[in-house]
Amino acid sequence: MIDVTSYEVVITSDRTMMSNHHGKEFLGFLATGPAVGLPEKLWMWLAAPKIKVDGEGRPIEAPYGLRKIEAKLIDAGFRAAVIDPDHIHKHLDGMKVLMVGHHDFFAYGPPSNEWWLITGEEPVNRLSFMRFMRSETVRKAKAKGVKVIAGGPAAWQWLWELDFWRECGIDVVVDGEAERVIVDLVRKALDGEELPNYVFVGPADTPSIDEIPVIKAASVNGLIEVMRGCPRGCKFCSVTLRPLRFIPLDKIEKEILVNIKSGITNAILHSEDVLLYGGDGIKPRPEAVIKLHEMVRKHVKGSIAWSHASLASIKYAEDNFKLISRLASEYLLTEGQNFLGVEVGIETGSPRLAEIIMPAKSAPYPASMWPEVVEDSFRIMHENTIIPAATLIIGLPGENSYDVVKTAELIDKLRPYRSIIVPMFFVPMGVLKNRDWFKKQYLTSDHIDLMIRIVNHTLYWAEDIMNKFYLREPYLTPLRFLLKLFIQYVKWRLSRLVPVIEATTHR
Ligand code: SF4
Repeated sequence: MIDVTSYEVVITSDRTMMSNHHGKEFLGFLATGPAVGLPEKLWMWLAAPKIKVDGEGRPIEAPYGLRKIEAKLIDAGFRAAVIDPDHIHKHLDGMKVLMVGHHDFFAYGPPSNEWWLITGEEPVNRLSFMRFMRSETVRKAKAKGVKVIAGGPAAWQWLWELDFWRECGIDVVVDGEAERVIVDLVRKALDGEELPNYVFVGPADTPSIDEIPVIKAASVNGLIEVMRGCPRGCKFCSVTLRPLRFIPLDKIEKEILVNIKSGITNAILHSEDVLLYGGDGIKPRPEAVIKLHEMVRKHVKGSIAWSHASLASIKYAEDNFKLISRLASEYLLTEGQNFLGVEVGIETGSPRLAEIIMPAKSAPYPASMWPEVVEDSFRIMHENTIIPAATLIIGLPGENSYDVVKTAELIDKLRPYRSIIVPMFFVPMGVLKNRDWFKKQYLTSDHIDLMIRIVNHTLYWAEDIMNKFYLREPYLTPLRFLLKLFIQYVKWRLSRLVPVIEATTHR
């Protein structure tokens, strides 16, 4: 435990990030939308209730990225701590540096920007973050000379909010994996040395395994990283620009034990593709994945989830090694866990577009087989009670109406498989970061048709998932009731909205 009461470096975020989302990570996604049909306060409570803190305002669980920065700074000898945003004022006297991190500061990332474009209303994550930065405490900190450093996966968004950057008096924005650069920056900030405005951490400066610290206190819902980077090289993705690194089992184990010590009984294995842990290029290696799950299940008595897996890996692992059914029956769906949640990326149903934009996403299968890879993988997950939340990108550069129709056909084929599918508009990132954002006025009738199919798929399965798997705990009954009401509300809104949208879109 950290045993000081005055922190020179305070690390924080706004409430949408500093929450355990009722122990259900997926509920956190509600914060990426505006408060539809409910008062904002109630919406915030659904998405991001306040978290337990100690007397100093240190949260029992905190976002993993903030925990990594905290650990790195503590290891370097700084008095640093993650503090809940409602308790920052307790540290105004000693604070010299204020660090703010976020996944989506201004709601420009997916799926926030879709909800914003479709509804015309600002998502609550943006409202909440801006409110926090304009709060009296942050203003007071800035007035007394505290240096403010912003970072995290959404750091790039500050480049689109220069006025707000100036208004908040942000001293440095750090874009990229920060472990190798952050100690020097904080030292300079504490010593009053000149600071760069923007630090971009390129592939050459990404930290090695040895430079990545072990977290010192618990992460939200037991999330722990098992791997960084991804070898698949999709052109729209920034993750792929970073080198692939597997976190050794003993380091992963230490972090699990940190979480368990704080009473967190669940674990979310974070990786761009959990099945590629210890893998052979883009091919899963069953021994490494089994060893990982064996170790995790030895300690974790609650549920285990995967943050992400690739559809090609799921198909390859099952077809060649029966690995998915083995993991499900021996390590995952045991001890009271009745499903496994995971995020997956469909992105398109068009083999033509897949070949151009993500040629290795289907590897070791050819891109021409992409729709079959998706369908087979969804079947395998359904048979093993794995429930995917799948993303699909609308408006990828080079997309034409043939591609959109192929994607719609794929959505129809996925209907028998329990899943949530979320449409996202193209956001320029990775190799495509200089391309145009997808805008509402680019929507065609094919896009609308596709989106309606997706929403109908998701609403159909959302009810089934809630009835059989999700929020079944008695104390979550009010939450379940509210979410069911929300689903009915979306259905009603959709039935009224569709004719209007169809009348105003391009033919
Ligand atoms: S598979 Fe996923 S993480 Fe990997 S490059 Fe493609 S989109 Fe990025």
